[in-house]
Amino acid sequence: MRWKGRRVSDNVEDRRGGGGAKAGGISIIGLIVAFVAWKFFGVDPQQAYQATKQVTSSGATQGAAPANLTAEQKEVSDFVGTILADTEDTWTPILKAKGVQYVSPKLVMFSGAIQSGCGAAQSAMGPFYCPADQKVYIDTQFFKDMRQQMGISGEQNQTELSARDEAGDFAQAYVIAHEVGHHIQNILGISGQVQQQRQRVSEAQGNQLSVHLELQADCLAGVWANSTHQRTQFLEQGDIEEAMDAAEKIGDDFLQKKARGYAVPDSFTHGTSQQRMQWFNTGLKSGDIDRCDTFN
Ligand SMILES: [Zn+2]
Repeated sequence: MRWKGRRVSDNVEDRRGGGGAKAGGISIIGLIVAFVAWKFFGVDPQQAYQATKQVTSSGATQGAAPANLTAEQKEVSDFVGTILADTEDTWTPILKAKGVQYVSPKLVMFSGAIQSGCGAAQSAMGPFYCPADQKVYIDTQFFKDMRQQMGISGEQNQTELSARDEAGDFAQAYVIAHEVGHHIQNILGISGQVQQQRQRVSEAQGNQLSVHLELQADCLAGVWANSTHQRTQFLEQGDIEEAMDAAEKIGDDFLQKKARGYAVPDSFTHGTSQQRMQWFNTGLKSGDIDRCDTFN
């Protein structure tokens, strides 16, 4: 995908540890935790925290932006800021047409551990959106894990593509757009309604509602891709496949099979790979938020 040279959002808070953030060794446990953490993609960080206790914390930082960014760290923040700006340029006019003034979420980049409005967040939790402080949290190590451990990468045309392209940049952008999708659901009151409904239904029905919420966030990510491509022609050959590949790898059925050797439909919270791909495509092809009604 093309992303350089566009506007970079100033709604990014860089709270990574300064210069050469500690990456930490990747253990087998860490790998399993990373897979499990994918499930929490946008879900209650407290739960994810419980699941990732064994991950060692490193350099929790508050507030201050790191002073000496490496070239790679700078590249990551430019990338994240550009994708966030793309979401702003997508949702501002779409929501305006619905009479809603869009206020972008802040996007917090961190490394190691951080305190969020939804509790403590730790490395390997995976990205999440916290409705309480309206911020998207991304541990940038997770992007590295995505390509190194989950095998999510872009096409491998080494001669033409930059390092980021090889790293599956569109899959990473899709992750950000999905989290911003949860922000859209929050400001439109959809997630609040689902939260209320969940209290009145069985656990299995509650999980089903969560699946609809997740699939809708995928559809909203598709709307972002459609809108951004119309403005910037940013999609390149292989990008959609890359996102589909990512969606496949983060479908709950895939994760559950990996983790336990079989799938248990009632405990799905993100939907099957097939469902995720289908709803992302619905948003992508239509570019229409009204087509993202995953609840009916
Ligand atoms: Zn989600």
